[in-house]
Amino acid sequence: MRLRKPVLGVIVVVVVGLGGLVLTAGTTAAQGGLLGARYTPGAPGAGDAYFPYAGNGGYDVQHYDLALTYTPPAAAPAPIVGRLSGVATIDLVATQDLNSFNLDLRGMDVQAVKVNGQGVREATPPAPGDVPAGPGYWQIQDDDARVWELTIQPRPKLKQGQTARVVVTYGGDTVRPEDIEGALYGWVTTRDGAMVVGEPEGSMTWYPVSDHQTDKATYSFDITVPEGKVAVANGLPRGDPVTAGGWTTWSWDAPDEQASYLTTASVGDYDLRFSQTTRGLPVIDAVDDNLTPANAAATEAGLALQADMIAFLEDTFVPYPFNSYGSIVDDDSVGYALETQNRPVYSRAAREFTVVHELAHQWFGNAVSPQRWQDIWLNEGWATYVEWLWSEATGGDSAQDNFDGIMAIPAEDEFWDLAIADPGPLGLFEGAIYDRGAATLHALRTRVGDDAFFAATRVWLTRYDDSTATTENLQSIFEEVSGQDLGSFFDVWVHTPTKPTI
Ligand SMILES: [Zn+2]
Repeated sequence: MRLRKPVLGVIVVVVVGLGGLVLTAGTTAAQGGLLGARYTPGAPGAGDAYFPYAGNGGYDVQHYDLALTYTPPAAAPAPIVGRLSGVATIDLVATQDLNSFNLDLRGMDVQAVKVNGQGVREATPPAPGDVPAGPGYWQIQDDDARVWELTIQPRPKLKQGQTARVVVTYGGDTVRPEDIEGALYGWVTTRDGAMVVGEPEGSMTWYPVSDHQTDKATYSFDITVPEGKVAVANGLPRGDPVTAGGWTTWSWDAPDEQASYLTTASVGDYDLRFSQTTRGLPVIDAVDDNLTPANAAATEAGLALQADMIAFLEDTFVPYPFNSYGSIVDDDSVGYALETQNRPVYSRAAREFTVVHELAHQWFGNAVSPQRWQDIWLNEGWATYVEWLWSEATGGDSAQDNFDGIMAIPAEDEFWDLAIADPGPLGLFEGAIYDRGAATLHALRTRVGDDAFFAATRVWLTRYDDSTATTENLQSIFEEVSGQDLGSFFDVWVHTPTKPTI
């Protein structure tokens, strides 16, 4: 059951008042003391200052197995509303003695929960200060406060180090969710399917998840859609699609750990194409049948360059980090592309410089992810800088030309009014995150020299592979490799909201 607003308002006010602890941890701790128990609730967030309820504490997810059945909207003029039902099987390890733990889930209704084979019944959310003794699960869905939490209180409780298999059966109508800025994201229902793009915390709109990149996991998918539709997720297909009774199941395995925001399971009228690079990397593209002729032509030209771009990035940095690549190009109105892991999603067209940008993210953002959302310039600055490098390598403007173009922006322009290493949750996708970010990297390259710059970048990509890192970690590596103190450089370029003087 999904709780409705009037009840929730009361709970959430208290929750927010407690500084983000949904489960009234103070009371629990007191009771724990009395009883001598060490079991406490897992935190309702991963500790990200920008999105305090994204992700969760108290456990580490190893694997998500998602069995989804999706019915896209009917033809116009029916509303653009789909229907999703799912069974998520989540393998996790408790990292503390857990009385209860949370998953993030938005707009979906939970019908059943099992922990290690043991059914957990739906319960009424406890009143503030109340700690229910028995097993139960409950949901908080507060769109205004942007708090969407599923709490599971299993019995027996989970001991630190214990593995648990959590099976959540859920479903609901799919709509067109919006992020904190009002942009479409998550499971974006389209007339012909869904474009699934979860950055920064939109994956919770389609499966129960610890929706923060600090808890990377592997994935497998079985996505059942009406016969004729194609469902494309991360990784590689597990066998051929299976059709029965008017439905087709598409199965995918993504064995490389990935951040939750990089998960996709897009559904549409796609033409699937299988190829491989000269170095043997499988490439699977899914291109919507209904692109306009101009968008189709730009997309063909962009996708044809993917193998060369991969070789260019491998030769410049380190080998491609995952088991496959390819692009999903959807005819939709989302209006942006996202670097979903090993299979970016593009809205309407995959143009050359967007393609190289999303490809660059496979190294910068996906293999090495920002530890906190405030570090997003590490994603976008690098991906933009790779666009500059690609331009130079293919006879276009040089990186220096692009840098000079940014530095020609007058100091009084508001472009410079952003400390890119802490842009705030509404500033994640400001232009300066991209362009000042890239200019910062070019200035850094000029400062330390090409040898140290590329050597340090390879250290960055190797040391934090399959993990997350911060701006401070980047600075440390560049200091280590170059032997220079870069404190004032980073202060000026990423921490100060004025134009750097060089
Ligand atoms: Zn990007």
